[in-house]
Parts: sequence; C-alpha cells; structure tokens
Amino acid sequence: MTTTMPYACKFCSKPGMVKAYTEGFAMIKPEIWIPNIACNRCAGFKTALRKLENSVANACQILNTCRASLEGEKKNGVETRIRTRIDDFTKRICNITCEHYRVTNVWSEDFTQMILDAPVHCRTAIQVLRRRNFQGVEI
Ligand SMILES: [Zn+2]
Repeated sequence: MTTTMPYACKFCSKPGMVKAYTEGFAMIKPEIWIPNIACNRCAGFKTALRKLENSVANACQILNTCRASLEGEKKNGVETRIRTRIDDFTKRICNITCEHYRVTNVWSEDFTQMILDAPVHCRTAIQVLRRRNFQGVEI
C-alpha cells in the first residue's frame, strides 16, 4: 500500500505530492525530510549550477598554480586557455540562471574578468555577479 503526502518546494514553494510505500514513510520520519524536498525544476537548476561553479573553481585552481609556477609565454598561453574556459562556464551559468528565473540573458566580459582578478574568491565573485545581474530576484 502506498501513501501520498503534500510538500512545497524548499526553493520556489511550488506545491507537489510525494508518493511512497506506507511502511517506508513510517521508517524514515517524513516530518524531517519533507521540508527539504525540491521540485524537479529547482533541483535540476541547482545541480547544474553547482557543477558549473565547481568547474569554475577547478579552472581557478589551475590558474593559481600556473601563475605561481610558470613564466613568460607559457604562462600567457595557460591564462588565455583558462580565460576561454571561464568565459564558457560563466556564459553557461548566465544561460541556466536566466532561463530558470525567466529573465533576459545579461552575460558580459566583466563576469570573467572579476573571476580572473581574484581566482581565490571565484565562488564569491559568481554570487556577487549573479545578484548584480538579477536585481530584484532572490537567488
Ligand atoms: Zn521549486
């Protein structure tokens, strides 16, 4: 026998229903995990965003290492390749964020430059730029 319980997405508050076996519900304490359920749309967005932020962080770590250990032409070559990758990642972050919040895509090169200026603080830069680009939308 199955039980159906209502929930509200923890990000967008969209109502939904979760269905599971009754014995399973009794064992896993639904009062604890039901407030943490996300709808498919929000879960997909958050997962994709986290992957892209991790990709930016990995690229920044490589950039830091290269800035500390390489010089001259080799260093410039790596910087150029990393800039291209971060451009791509930031465009994808903008695309999925704008699509999720249904706003106009507003990517600019400042996005990449801010990250390249302080690669150690790339996650903070991503947060700041996302908030700046989507004023009035809680992200
Ligand atoms: Zn949601």
